[in-house]
Amino acid sequence: MKIKVGFGFDVHQLRSNHPFVLGGVKLDHHSGAYGHSDADVLLHAICDALLGAANMRDIGYHFSNTDDRWKGISSVILLQEVVKLIAGKGFTIGNIDAMVCLEAPKINPHIPAMKKHIAEAISISEEDISIKATTNEQMGFIGREEGVVAYAVCLIEKA
Ligand SMILES: [Zn+2]
Repeated sequence: MKIKVGFGFDVHQLRSNHPFVLGGVKLDHHSGAYGHSDADVLLHAICDALLGAANMRDIGYHFSNTDDRWKGISSVILLQEVVKLIAGKGFTIGNIDAMVCLEAPKINPHIPAMKKHIAEAISISEEDISIKATTNEQMGFIGREEGVVAYAVCLIEKA
């Protein structure tokens, strides 16, 4: 059994009256994450952790933000593509642990739905997905609600 660990990070601007999709779940909020795809910062961090573990570059390499194929696309599809990419190298997911840094809204009530959504999308157990949340204690761009950040680590394995 070969096991590998990966790390991912992502950041997006928050813009007023913009949809806010996080962990595949649409949040009801006065602002939302802005980007080329649906700007799902949590799923992007998870994608980068998985690609990193498999030593397969990063999400921008595979899904360029200048490519119209990915414009406005659901990041759930990107995550599914990444899982296919690492499966091509013979890897399956052991577990994922992620952290979202966001001042508002509170996402703790939405975490069970995010876990369920991700687990179903990539056919892994909810038990193998951890999502945590913190604020930035009102400091910096996160504290001013100008942006949202996510970090993720994952373990992948090959028999
Ligand atoms: Zn992103």
